Amino acid sequence: LKRAKQTDRIEIYEPEAAILSDNRFGLETALRNAIEEDRLRLAFQPLIELASGRVAGFEALARWDHDDGHAVSPTEFIPIAEDSGLIVPLGQWAIAKAASVIADWDRQNGGEPVDCYFSVNVSAIQLIRDDIAAVVRNALADNGIGGERLMIELTESAIIGDPDLAMSVLSELKTLDTRVAMDDFGTGYSNLAYLQRLPLDVLKIDRSFVEHMVEDRDKVAIVRTIQSLAEVLGMKTTAEGVETADQARLLSALGCDFGQGFLFARPMDSAAALQYWRQSLVRPII
Ligand code: C2E
Ligand code: MG
Ligand code: MG
Ligand code: MG
Repeated sequence: LKRAKQTDRIEIYEPEAAILSDNRFGLETALRNAIEEDRLRLAFQPLIELASGRVAGFEALARWDHDDGHAVSPTEFIPIAEDSGLIVPLGQWAIAKAASVIADWDRQNGGEPVDCYFSVNVSAIQLIRDDIAAVVRNALADNGIGGERLMIELTESAIIGDPDLAMSVLSELKTLDTRVAMDDFGTGYSNLAYLQRLPLDVLKIDRSFVEHMVEDRDKVAIVRTIQSLAEVLGMKTTAEGVETADQARLLSALGCDFGQGFLFARPMDSAAALQYWRQSLVRPII
């Protein structure tokens, strides 16, 4: 769809499209270099257990500071990575990096495993082109950590695009004890039959349902529905984009297991995230 749109633009608005695609090509080259030179970073955003205020884990989010100094948003560079195939090395890097950071945290914790996991995003394209389970297995082995220390976030499109492939990858991840979350749940076209068959551990309730949920009864009804679906299927839920204490209270009352959002913390570098985790042991987040 994205490609078709671009072609349209090239036909209709030629000069503008030339600039756009030029910029895109420039970004693609710069991104390729950044990956090769190991200049991407991971930022970590806490996932809070709503009932206890405990930090359950952190989502690992890719960050890229372009050579010219400005930060390029993942919403901009991930689509470029997907279209150019760079998503495969990028995704491998993210999994390996997350595993190495968690192993580093364990060392900083006196060799005692830090009781939390990192949740890493994997794009649909990477799921098809790469052997995710092998990438995870190697990352665990290279860093001497257990599979339960990683979680993989897949979007609905990744799973629905090729359900048989998704099923086999998820089963393999299960044998490694690595959990799988369905990201941005509710925005795609999930087939309930597949949802029932797939060994998913977590449904991440998309931010669009959390936003304004306090004043919008329809959104509450949707969250309630996702929550009961998750309960029936034996899955946990994580609400994305929790920005206010009222949202957190309402989500907690609805039975939502985990919350993630600016209310608790913005994505931060690894040192700040470890500090956040340590602090949460002394004083629960909520
Ligand atoms: P996502 O996986 O749904 O990640 C959550 C996004 O919501 C993050 O945006 C996060 O910063 C943002 N967010 C968290 N809490 C709040 C909140 O309270 N309010 C608002 N407005 N936003 C909040 P970010 O880091 O810009 O990433 C955007 C998307 O880019 C991610 O959405 C994910 O789809 C993709 N992405 C990021 N890193 C990676 C990666 O390493 N690999 C892949 N394949 N995709 C990635
Ligand atoms: Mg995610
Ligand atoms: Mg998400
Ligand atoms: Mg989302």
